[in-house]
Amino acid sequence: MHLPIVHAGEAVLRKHTRALSPQEIRSKEIQKLIEHMRETMRGAPGVGLAAPQVGLSLQMAVIEDRKEYHKEVSAEQLKLRERRPVPFHVLINPRIHSAKDGEIVEFFEGCLSLPGFFALVPRSRDVRVECLDHRGNSKSIEASGWYARILQHEIDHLHGNLYIDRMHSRSFSSTENWEKFWKGKTIADVRSELGC
Ligand code: ZN
Repeated sequence: MHLPIVHAGEAVLRKHTRALSPQEIRSKEIQKLIEHMRETMRGAPGVGLAAPQVGLSLQMAVIEDRKEYHKEVSAEQLKLRERRPVPFHVLINPRIHSAKDGEIVEFFEGCLSLPGFFALVPRSRDVRVECLDHRGNSKSIEASGWYARILQHEIDHLHGNLYIDRMHSRSFSSTENWEKFWKGKTIADVRSELGC
């Protein structure tokens, strides 16, 4: 089942979400919701989807970066973004840690709740996440590159934050114009041209 994805302006996207107990996670309802969120993310298609994006204020998100999505991205861009396939998994009650003096990287990103737009967003290159998995078991994730970016983006959703809160606002662009003017440029060139 594809769930409707809510867009910016819906209050649920700005709320702190509620944690789930291991018992709740194993319930039929949550197991069904995980399935529906997976189908909704694949249908979009997207590489991540957080519960608030389907109108539910719960500390849960699904992530999957499929190899077939990478066909539309050049080998150079994949390498630059350190983007590698990520198998489907669920994040529940995640806590994120990034080194204080860790490297910050900047790339354009979008969001299914802000369709039709992209912007340059600085994020940590490396993160560690402690969370529960789809069975309610503790899990620790070490991630870098694009996967680390996806994790930060989805976990932001669970705290009522959107990428527009972190973006270089002068880089905000329609998808069409991003493809036309900015997609092929280096981030240094984009920043100097846009003055951000
Ligand atoms: Zn998003």
